[in-house]
Amino acid sequence: MLTPAPAQFGFEKSRQAFERACTLMPGGVNSPARAFGAVGGHPLFIQRGTGPFLVDIDGNHYLDYIGSWGPMILGHAHPVVIDAIQKAAEQGTSFGAPTGRESELAQLIIDAIPSVEKVRLVSSGTEATMSAIRLARGATGREKIVKFAGNYHGHADSLLVAAGSSAANLGVPDSPGVTSGTSRDTIVLDYNDTAAINRLFDEMGNQIAAVILEPVVGNMGLVLPDSQFLLTLRKRTEASGTVLIFDEVMTGFRVAYSGAQSRLGIKPDLTTLGKIVGGGLPLGAYGGRRDLMDHVLPAGKVFQAGTLSGNPLATAAGIATLKLLRDQSPYDYLEQQAQRLATGLSEAAQAAGVPHRMQRMGSMMTLFFIDEDVVDWPSAAKADRKKFAAYFWGLVRHGVYMPCSQFEALFFSATHTPEHIEYTIDAAKKVLATLSAT
Ligand SMILES: *Cc1c(COP(=O)(O)O)cnc(C)c1O
Repeated sequence: MLTPAPAQFGFEKSRQAFERACTLMPGGVNSPARAFGAVGGHPLFIQRGTGPFLVDIDGNHYLDYIGSWGPMILGHAHPVVIDAIQKAAEQGTSFGAPTGRESELAQLIIDAIPSVEKVRLVSSGTEATMSAIRLARGATGREKIVKFAGNYHGHADSLLVAAGSSAANLGVPDSPGVTSGTSRDTIVLDYNDTAAINRLFDEMGNQIAAVILEPVVGNMGLVLPDSQFLLTLRKRTEASGTVLIFDEVMTGFRVAYSGAQSRLGIKPDLTTLGKIVGGGLPLGAYGGRRDLMDHVLPAGKVFQAGTLSGNPLATAAGIATLKLLRDQSPYDYLEQQAQRLATGLSEAAQAAGVPHRMQRMGSMMTLFFIDEDVVDWPSAAKADRKKFAAYFWGLVRHGVYMPCSQFEALFFSATHTPEHIEYTIDAAKKVLATLSAT
């Protein structure tokens, strides 16, 4: 059994592995958030994960607060999930034909999330949001969509505008390769800007196919929705026949088993899922009102397909994970630990005289190095990224692996014990004390 401890074996093997990877893959990674671009230095190469811990190839172990960017709410290598994957693998890994497990997972999703009456399984969060947008356009016959600055919905062209953490760190909010024609149909507003919603819908509500948002934002750091903002969105989209899409790829099964929508009391038309729903394997989903979902091929005419959709291993991992979450309901425990962690981290910053804001929902939170509330991307962007980078590396040396960007939320798991949380707060105290002078 691992116990929290400082990283003591150096990072040389990771450095060499990264050097090699850089000759083989763009930037040495298969997803930019992993490259440590926002905090400097090179990424740590991971050999294995167990419960709340990651072990790198130099032999250091870390309390993990990324959790694969959200999925690992039960901790790494949960024995029940691993067993389900192994049993499934022995029966074959892909058939391109229907399996019972797809219906089993669909049923679990529909039972969990009341606004979802029918669901389609895909292989990633990106595919889920991309398909939901296509469905909204196909069902309404309209072209314009609305998204919010700092919200990330995966990397489909039409959604890759003002797209939060990864894009922000690269300094390219609009990616090269996205055509001006594509981005012209995407209207970007500031999060929590209720007046802007009203103005837009007064002017052209009947041209807007969909509004997509993170109901609680994780991708510009944790930002909570104003209740008036959400109510206005629901009211105006309903009145104009616009599809309201909650992107719950991050929040689904995280802030509550039934997603952020259950805590916020708003029913979207469509919901996109990913991360936890696949239990650590590649799986996403989009679902919602039956009449809308029945526009999807082959029930309807909106095309969407996937060779590996509903993959046997991914559905096995997803089913095992959702059943554990449903039956063991770790959410009260996570809430208690999250309260303690949030309080401990802000007290540590307070004691060190470091200006900050702690923003949280359930077991996702961000300690912003900033002296004002963060409500949207313009306010988030004022955070002190240099201070964050020093905080990040300080924690790594204490054996605590936080998200490697100021504009990401941290996540932890049901396997993080109260002792792990206290160790983390203690490490943060030490690190923040050294930062107060800067
Ligand atoms: C991670 C994420 C996505 C993209 O999911 P992928 O599986 O990485 O394609 C979409 N939306 C939100 C809110 C996310 O956090």
